[in-house]
Amino acid sequence: MIKTIGLIFLGPPGSGKGTQAQVLAQSLEIAHISTGEILRQAITQNTPLGLKAQIYMDKGELVPDELLLNLIKDRLSQSDAQKGWILDGFPRTVDQACFLEQLLEQLNQFSECVVNLEVPEEVLIQRLLERGRQDDNETTIRRRLQVYHEQTAPVIDYYRQRGNLNSVNGNRPPEQVSTSVKEILTV
Ligand code: AMP
Repeated sequence: MIKTIGLIFLGPPGSGKGTQAQVLAQSLEIAHISTGEILRQAITQNTPLGLKAQIYMDKGELVPDELLLNLIKDRLSQSDAQKGWILDGFPRTVDQACFLEQLLEQLNQFSECVVNLEVPEEVLIQRLLERGRQDDNETTIRRRLQVYHEQTAPVIDYYRQRGNLNSVNGNRPPEQVSTSVKEILTV
């Protein structure tokens, strides 16, 4: 059986994890799985999932697990994910991290590496204001950062305790960040 490369990208909103995940997934020829992107697509297509998710996303809140967990299960089971994947935006809570651990066991896959992009808060706010996505207005940005500190930051400790956390300084030009991320993978 071919071994699956499983990478998890963590980092606050605006840390550049989406950009980094996309570049790396392309160069490794593995699936880039962004839950935020899947949800935004569902919103554009006006699906029942999109209609429900939008209410939370517009407020900067996390979308409830009952909308997301099956989605991740289905996505990781698809054929293009069998060679490997980068998860971008999932897990965002310790509960989701526990769910993922069990799911990967069921699917006979595992994540070998967790990359955490570190960027100072004032840089994040500036980047998000410049990005101008629908959920990037100042009120929503502040709420998303608060949600990040309350619910997502504990996920860092979860992986640190398991010994597979790698922190990378994300406050540099994207090419330099990519080089650091690739170095981690080749160690
Ligand atoms: P992102 O593109 O990763 O910044 O995600 C945009 C929005 O999608 C977030 O602010 C959440 O509302 C929602 N979202 C994405 N991933 C998750 C997740 N793993 N759990 C809950 N909500 C999520």
